[in-house]
Amino acid sequence: MKIRTRFAPSPTGYMHIGNLRTALYEYLIAKAGGGDFLLRIEDTDQKRYVEGATDIIYDTLKMVGINWDEGPDIGGDFGPYIQSERKDLYAPYAHKLVELGGAHYCFCAEREKEYDAEGNEVICKFEDPCKRIPLEEARRRIAAGEPYTIRQTINKTGKSKYEDKVYGIIEIDYDELDEGVLLKTDGFPTYNFANVIDDHLMGITHVVRGSEYLPSTPKYNLMYDTFGWERPVYVHLPPVMKDAQHKLSKRNGDASFQDLLAKGYLPEAIINYIALLGWNPGTEQEIFSIKELEQIFSIDRLNKSPAIFDIVKLTWMNGVYIRNLPAEEFYRLAEPHLADMPANVDKRALAAALQPRVETFGQIAEQVDFIKELPDYTPELFVNKKMKTDIEVARKALPLIKEVLTAQTEWNNDALFAALKSLAEANGMKNGQILYPARIAFSGRETTPGGATELAVVLGKDECLRRIDTAIAKL
Ligand code: GLU
Repeated sequence: MKIRTRFAPSPTGYMHIGNLRTALYEYLIAKAGGGDFLLRIEDTDQKRYVEGATDIIYDTLKMVGINWDEGPDIGGDFGPYIQSERKDLYAPYAHKLVELGGAHYCFCAEREKEYDAEGNEVICKFEDPCKRIPLEEARRRIAAGEPYTIRQTINKTGKSKYEDKVYGIIEIDYDELDEGVLLKTDGFPTYNFANVIDDHLMGITHVVRGSEYLPSTPKYNLMYDTFGWERPVYVHLPPVMKDAQHKLSKRNGDASFQDLLAKGYLPEAIINYIALLGWNPGTEQEIFSIKELEQIFSIDRLNKSPAIFDIVKLTWMNGVYIRNLPAEEFYRLAEPHLADMPANVDKRALAAALQPRVETFGQIAEQVDFIKELPDYTPELFVNKKMKTDIEVARKALPLIKEVLTAQTEWNNDALFAALKSLAEANGMKNGQILYPARIAFSGRETTPGGATELAVVLGKDECLRRIDTAIAKL
């Protein structure tokens, strides 16, 4: 049978890293098995609806290269793919489930849901007294216009059992399960009902989702069984953690995909990093394109221990991707971060100096701030043991450098480097005794993106000479 998976996000307005990982694994499971990956928007919780949120979902998936075979925008044979557009389809199944004994009509006021500290719904053991109302009587009350919901009926004895591909055999007492609402008074299904109906009608073979759904899956299985439908294969994923105790959560200000993009991480690096957040290839290889992952991904290499989101590792990986970018592409992406550079700055030379030295585009601003304005510094900055420089050396070197640079006509890295190197030689000095003072004079900083001559190209001749004068005046 052809594998079919689906990503079923609620349009909340941002893409949580855990959700993106779920989408990725669903996509890879489908593609590695030659199957189809669907996108379904779960927007039945109208209270949580956020304007523009579906676009964020589309844009994010496209940006990282997760392409869907069926979905709201491109259609498919199993649509509609937006839950609110499927509204009329659920009620007949809910009534059918009542007939089959898997649900009942309830006339109680809706109970408020409870949530834990992480914002997950607390599963309670509610047993609904309405399930004892004889069906004929319930139907009469409905015909008389009384508002009702349809709740799941659970025979509270015995144990439920199913297999999860990551967590193994899951056994839960039926007594633990809540007789929750499946169809609300307004005719909208709850998630607990819609996911079963939709996954069945859309022919989903593998349900991949967060481990928070492990405890409610027995309720879904009861429905599959009562309808006589085949249960899907379950693949529950452990949470993505911020540290050993805490889940990564937008509520606590933790990064979403959009935040990472804004900080200058590349989509390719983010998705590569996320792929390894709970799955391993079984080799030492760490850098993967999504196309490579499509070839090698396998469910049996999913890990059930929670993965800790390690920003240091992601930053390292992003650096690898940045260094591998064609220079032209790096320049295109770096340019917006160089928008406030003075007009005389050679941005291409600056980008070339930055590319091997930044791990995110967000680091650029801090690396180049000295270009806009020379920071105030004290003469002690010229002291550097390794370079064999001190204030005396700088006093000697800077006027010589000024002379050479004033006479210099060819203003590029190689020519400048050759000129300063022969200056050192001619004066019996080490290269560093010329280059280091020059670099300090140009930048006012101990560490810079590039050496003295690279900075000179970026700053241009006039600015370099001005900065040398400033340095001489300090000494
Ligand atoms: N809309 C649900 C969520 O965002 C989908 C869960 C599932 O994949 O079934 O958590």
